[in-house]
This record gives sequence, structure tokens and C-alpha cells, in this order.
Amino acid sequence: MTPLDLDANATEPLRPEARAAVLRALDLGGNASSVHGGGRAARAIMEAARAEVARRAGVSPVDITFTSGGTEANALALHGLGTGRRLLVGATEHAAVRAAAPAAKTIPVRRDGTLDLDALAALLADGPPALVCAMAANNETGVRHPLDAIRALCTEHGALLHVDAVQAAREDIPRADSLALSAHKLGGPPGAGALVLAPGLHLPPLIAGGGQERGRRGGTEALPAIAGFGAAIGVPFDAARMAALRDAIEAGIRELAPEAVIAGTGAPRLPNTSLIILPGAAAETQVIALDLAGIRVSAGAACSSGKVARSHVLEAMGFGDLAGCGIRVSLPWNAPDDAPQRFLEAWAAMRNRLSSRARARAT
Ligand code: PLP
Repeated sequence: MTPLDLDANATEPLRPEARAAVLRALDLGGNASSVHGGGRAARAIMEAARAEVARRAGVSPVDITFTSGGTEANALALHGLGTGRRLLVGATEHAAVRAAAPAAKTIPVRRDGTLDLDALAALLADGPPALVCAMAANNETGVRHPLDAIRALCTEHGALLHVDAVQAAREDIPRADSLALSAHKLGGPPGAGALVLAPGLHLPPLIAGGGQERGRRGGTEALPAIAGFGAAIGVPFDAARMAALRDAIEAGIRELAPEAVIAGTGAPRLPNTSLIILPGAAAETQVIALDLAGIRVSAGAACSSGKVARSHVLEAMGFGDLAGCGIRVSLPWNAPDDAPQRFLEAWAAMRNRLSSRARARAT
């Protein structure tokens, strides 16, 4: 049987529309900065993609800066807008943001994973203007922060708001002073992303290079990846279907295992994501057992070495030792209708095996 991919938050399967656009751009070739006809043809493809990203983000194309992905878009924003400002970063932000702001103050989250607004207000009141980083949706739990309230607090205190919208953008793209997007998280290819900037904000580059992207990001643009990004971002996302599949998985887990915990259920969440904690079972063991059964999920956080780290997201939510026992199920746009049934069968078999092993160890 073909493996069941439930790891969309790591990377979404390529949309056919994006694949076709990548191939067209590859066949065309060319450098969008060249003045001759070949360059102008390449630029036309790139500007069409920029217009599509801008349309989805509700901004003008001049406010879109293409990057290599979400990590670079976040780093560019923090570098460009954070200079001379205090950095305040949510406790559950992705490593792409945390690593770009090593000296930042942490904004705690509540037990349900949403940003603690009282703590944010106190931090904002306590010093000079800040740059606040609050993700639109968490990659591990799917929890969405209350961005309207966060934006209002930022405005009240003269702070800028940077939003990592890498996971939320399949469904919707919020408003912010700056916002990071990534093509491969919404059905495009890896290698392209964008920083969306509010009109009038000046952004010094991280890499100056040849002055591409209005001087905000030097380096020849990755035309095929950008073309695929533009194609993928315009494809409608069936949130209702995703939520129905996700809810079926969560209802099944509750029925099978009253001891299991699903993180962030009290908060608004992405429709495709579920973080399931099985007390006493190391996340890595669960991921490997499910992989052997043909189900591909990930531990809350996967680091680049392929090893599983304890989830800083679950730790920030106060899960203590359970922070090492969570697996993330994230449904891709093309998940089959029987995904919940296949997942639940494999999960139940895994749980039974792990608990009989634990019983044998105890006797
Ligand atoms: N931000 C979030 C919330 C993510 O989930 C990821 C990828 O996992 C990134 C940023 C980094 O994006 P990219 O892989 O495009 O660099």
C-alpha cells in the first residue's frame, strides 16, 4: 500500500498547477534582470507571480519581495525592521524567527497556545518602541494567535508587527507591517517565499547583491520556484474538508484512548493540524512505529539533523514532560477520504503495542 502522507506542515505535496508553472518557467529559462527579449519574457512570468501573491495578500505588487523561502523572509524582516527596536518574540515561534532574534524578549503563551495578551501589553509598555513577532498559526499545533488584538496593542504602543504566516497562508493571509510566506507550505515548490511589507516601510537588505527586488534582496530570482509559488497561492484551499478529516481523527483518538491529549483544542486552529500527545510514549518512537506502518507524521518539531527534539511549543504551553510525547498530524490538500481510518488503525495498533511493552517492563 502506498504510504499515507500526513506531514503537510513539513511540506505540502506539489499542486499540479504549480508543477506545470515550474516546468514552463524552466523551459523558458532566462534572467529576469536581462534587458533583451529573453529577460523580458522571464520578468513577465515573475511579475505575474508577484501580482498573484499580492492579490492573495491584499497588497500592491511593489510590496512583495521574493526570497528563498519562509526562513529568509523572517530573517529579512527581523534584520531590516528590528534594528533600533526592542524585539518581542512569541514563545512558540518557529526556529526561523527565534534564531534571527537571539536577544529578543519572549512573550509567553497561555495553556491553549495563544499569545498572552496581558503579558504582551506589559512588555510593550515597558520600554522604547518594539518589533513584535507573532505567528499567524503554529506549525506544530495549528493554534492561531489573536492577531486583531495583537495588532491593536502594537498600534497603541507604536510597535511594528511582524507575522510569520507560513502555515496560515494556505487558508488566509492576515495584515501586518511585515509578513513571511513560503511556497512549499502551500503546494508550491521549495526555494521561493516572500516578505509582504506594509506600504511606506523602508527595508534595508540582508544581502545587497545586484539590487534585485527593489534593492531589498540581492541575487538572481529563482524564476521556476517563483512561477510555481504564484500558481500554488491562487489555488483555493478546501478548509471544510480538511477540518472534517481532522475532526474525524480527533474524535477517533478520544474514543480509543482517554489518556491521550490533543494540544490547543481550546483555541482557534488550522483545519489540517492535530498535535496528539500519548503520555509515556516518546515522540520519536511513535513516528518510527507509524512510519513502519506506512503513515508519515512528524514529531512536534523536526530539526535539520532528522533527530527529534523536545517540543519548545509544548513546553511553552506548560506540558512539562509530555512535551516529548507529541506527534503532529498535518493533512495535505490531497489527503484521501480514508485518511482518518487508516491513521486511526495504525495509531491504535501502535498504542496497544507500546502499552503492552510498558506493562511487560513493569512486571
Ligand atoms: N515558519 C514556519 C511557521 C514554518 O513552519 C516554517 C517551516 O517549517 C518556516 C517558517 C520556514 O519556512 P521555509 O522552510 O520556507 O524556510
